[in-house]
Amino acid sequence: MTLGVADRQASLLDDMSEFCEKTLAKDSIYAFLHRERDRLFPDEAFADLFADDGRRSVPPSVVAAVMVLQRLEGLSDREAAERYAFDARWRYAAGVGSYDTSEWTIFSHTVFVDMRERLRRSTDPDRVFAIVLDAAKAAGLVGRKRVLDSTPLYDAVATMDTITLIRSAVRNLLKVTDGSLRAEVLAVLTSGDDYASSDKPQIDWEDAPARERLVDTRAKDAYACLLALEGRELTDVVTEAARLLATVVGQDLEEGDDKILRIARKVAKDRVISVVDPEARHGHKTSAHGFDGYKGHVAIDPDSEIITATTVSAGNAGDASVAEQLIGDLLENDEVTGDDAVREGQGEPGALGHERATVYGDAAYGTGELQSRLKDANIASKCKTQPPVAKNGLFTKDRFLVDLGTDTVTCPNDVTVKIRRLKDGDGIAKFATHCVTCPLAWQCTTSRIGRKIRVGIHEAVVARARVEQKDPKWRADYRATRPKVERKLGHLMRRRHGGRRARVRGKLRVAADFSLLAAAANLARLAKLEVRSIEGGGWMMAG
Ligand code: SF4
Repeated sequence: MTLGVADRQASLLDDMSEFCEKTLAKDSIYAFLHRERDRLFPDEAFADLFADDGRRSVPPSVVAAVMVLQRLEGLSDREAAERYAFDARWRYAAGVGSYDTSEWTIFSHTVFVDMRERLRRSTDPDRVFAIVLDAAKAAGLVGRKRVLDSTPLYDAVATMDTITLIRSAVRNLLKVTDGSLRAEVLAVLTSGDDYASSDKPQIDWEDAPARERLVDTRAKDAYACLLALEGRELTDVVTEAARLLATVVGQDLEEGDDKILRIARKVAKDRVISVVDPEARHGHKTSAHGFDGYKGHVAIDPDSEIITATTVSAGNAGDASVAEQLIGDLLENDEVTGDDAVREGQGEPGALGHERATVYGDAAYGTGELQSRLKDANIASKCKTQPPVAKNGLFTKDRFLVDLGTDTVTCPNDVTVKIRRLKDGDGIAKFATHCVTCPLAWQCTTSRIGRKIRVGIHEAVVARARVEQKDPKWRADYRATRPKVERKLGHLMRRRHGGRRARVRGKLRVAADFSLLAAAANLARLAKLEVRSIEGGGWMMAG
């Protein structure tokens, strides 16, 4: 397909466009896209996606604008194609004359699928987000503060139970093998199941021995398949299917002394929950709130509320594990830009101190590792580090004096012991026999081998963070700033289609869709702030 090129919007003189011009609010996303679409999404910015020969594509500048509106309004592909065809505001935003039905001025919903796939396979899949962010930066809307948070993105597919996981993985394997290899794999199946249907085998689910037999026989089929493939040269797709089968059969089962394979009573740490979307995981946003799928992570500038970065992780990933990705621009770049530069230049109270940036986050970001990374990068941390806790009201760790100079710990009974360091730098202080005769023991430990205090490699920076967080100014700033990211995530998730529940499968696709949603939210924000392009280059805020 070759690149289709849109007419320039200046040629729109039809009465519907005139009507939109007169009636739409100047800060509406439709008016903004109508005015700035050519600057933001010129067809040439997508030329690499349409380098083949063949018929002309729908101009990508038009598709990009419509995809943004689709994500903003939470519509399916079919609904968006229909809205583009019949809603005057959408046509006005996309720069299409109202009564024009020639060529690409009406198109099918499959155009969105095609565009997403082309973007995903390209070297710059997040370009729509990057283009919008660059405009926000040029308008001075991205300073040096970031607030981080994450939100659950529910899986687009159903979570599978163990028996469905194993059967689906065997079915997958049979689907991708053919010829003599398929015949050999089929020959080792002994359960009597032909794996032709995805329906669960009909048994009496109240009958425990029948359930046990079902699990054992299908698991033995799975192991037999893997054994049949062992040592062979396989195609990538068969290798991948075999790997998935090995994972699902290995994660949930354990063999008893009687050689029967049963469902294990524990849950594997990184358990695959669906063979249709093997990258999704069971996660927890809070201890009470579990979900299946992914986590969408964002960083925002708290002053302009522009989203500066997004990423998606498996649902069970810790928030701090992707924090460096979200603040990659701060870690790389120490240039002073945007509102902070103005404030710093004017010496206003909002100006930052000697640190070159500030990062805010809840306790999920208050890990020693991230606190150390921020400190090393000379970035102020407003990430909350939880105070130490101890069970049953026993002495918490902050009742002990950790002296990193002498590498010792002194307990409330004035006993000092040396910290024993492990290879990774973490350490442990054991009070052992000192506790046996200690009069404070009933307040300190219930262990027969005495109290232990762990001293991590990042102990100093964590302790410093806890002290800083007691400062009323620190707390007031945290309380005033951090909730902004929660509001932004709430705003992103409220969409009926493609909000909380992912509408695609696989981490890369979910991440691309989340990034597009963030780009759409940013565009709506630029429209609200009446940002406009400057002739000759650049962007500015109105007034
Ligand atoms: S119980 Fe052990 S660690 Fe606790 S105060 Fe007594 S001696 Fe110290």
